[in-house]
Amino acid sequence: MFADRAKIFIRSGKGGDGHCSFRRELYVPNGGPDGGDGGRGGDLIFEVDEGLNTLIDYRHKRKYAAGDGEEGGKRKCHGKDGKDLVLRVPEGTVIKESKTGKVIADMSGDNRRQIVLKGGKGGLGNQHFATATMQVPKYAQPGQPAMELEVNLELKVIADVGLIGFPNVGKSTFLSRVTNAQPKIANYHFTTLNPNLGVVDLDGAKGFVVADIPGLIEGASEGVGLGHEFLRHIERTKMMIHVVDAAGTEGRDPVDDIYKINAELQAYNPEFAKRPQVIAANKTDLIYSEDDDPIQRLKEEFEPQGIKVFPISGVSGQGLKELLYYVSEQIQTMDVPPIVFEQEFFPEDELIYEELPYTVEKEKDVYVVEGPKIEKMLGYTNLDSEKGFAFFQKFLKETGILDKLEEAGIQEGDTVKMYGLQFDYYK
Ligand code: GDP
Ligand code: MG
Repeated sequence: MFADRAKIFIRSGKGGDGHCSFRRELYVPNGGPDGGDGGRGGDLIFEVDEGLNTLIDYRHKRKYAAGDGEEGGKRKCHGKDGKDLVLRVPEGTVIKESKTGKVIADMSGDNRRQIVLKGGKGGLGNQHFATATMQVPKYAQPGQPAMELEVNLELKVIADVGLIGFPNVGKSTFLSRVTNAQPKIANYHFTTLNPNLGVVDLDGAKGFVVADIPGLIEGASEGVGLGHEFLRHIERTKMMIHVVDAAGTEGRDPVDDIYKINAELQAYNPEFAKRPQVIAANKTDLIYSEDDDPIQRLKEEFEPQGIKVFPISGVSGQGLKELLYYVSEQIQTMDVPPIVFEQEFFPEDELIYEELPYTVEKEKDVYVVEGPKIEKMLGYTNLDSEKGFAFFQKFLKETGILDKLEEAGIQEGDTVKMYGLQFDYYK
């Protein structure tokens, strides 16, 4: 398999929870809060490794997790940070979110290392939450959760050369003959709309990647859209090998064929139509006629237009070498910048981090709600005004405090206390 892929689960480290504790010293009855902060969760990082050229390792092991941060401790003890996890991949690996197929990272060009999932921040210990009105804060911040994703790794292959031509002219045969690809070869139309890619290795010359573009012509006029994905593979092809059935086995004329396909190409995408072409006059093993030499006709028609014609046979292999060396030489002279895929999926945006904490506690018959955010909110809300009170109610709901009160077993008519404020609970 050439277009190398793997599907894996990745997870960053969870942030360690902040700790809640109080100083205990001899002769000091009410020590202040001294709960330490949680450690940072490890990042999940992708890094290019020049020594790699496949994704095979990722097909054996499927799950990868960075280390979790440790919880904070007493006496302001900071929890240990979680270990980062670095996943090494070959250059040109594209990382995509598996559900949407959106690109998270393209490990090519200047991008040698990317943090794909950031570790959660450690939570603050209760030492940070003492205020003038709250000397004994009983809450600490939880660490941020880990991020988890299923991703597809794809080794990006950008074709240098596209194969075009009518169905059954021998494109798939050609591809399987000159590359390591194993496309379907069949004597019927509409075989496949997937791109078939293969690498041509040449002795003493630079190899190149060829893409068979079956759907381009077969599907285009019927409105069968080529996938975006597919187009990416061919949009930067440097040239086209135009395969034609020179023997005319299906009763068409080869010169006519070339013009027809080029007209389709022009209609489909004028950019593709501008690519330099070379004609692979195929099935020469089936040319018997003495008086009509289709190769000669093709040459006379197209070589004056700068399109070279190579007689070949995908079946016997005749003429293939000359064609391939010519193509290799041609694409050397073309300077096309490499494609880098833009990031479209941002894991951090998908995750809602937890807000600052609060506690709900029952003291006798009163439910006491405490937390730095609440204290701050109460400071700037005028509960006597209708608007202020509506805002406060919304706040209780959205922060989940109402749910927490219910969980704690509150009944209608019970009293809720928040700092200086007391009210009776009604739904
Ligand atoms: P595609 O539709 O353009 O991909 O064409 P295929 O590669 O599937 O070939 C269509 C048919 O033509 C198959 O039966 C092939 O065996 C046959 N074919 C392809 N190239 C040649 C060739 O050079 N000589 C002969 N005799 N048959 C060929
Ligand atoms: Mg085919």
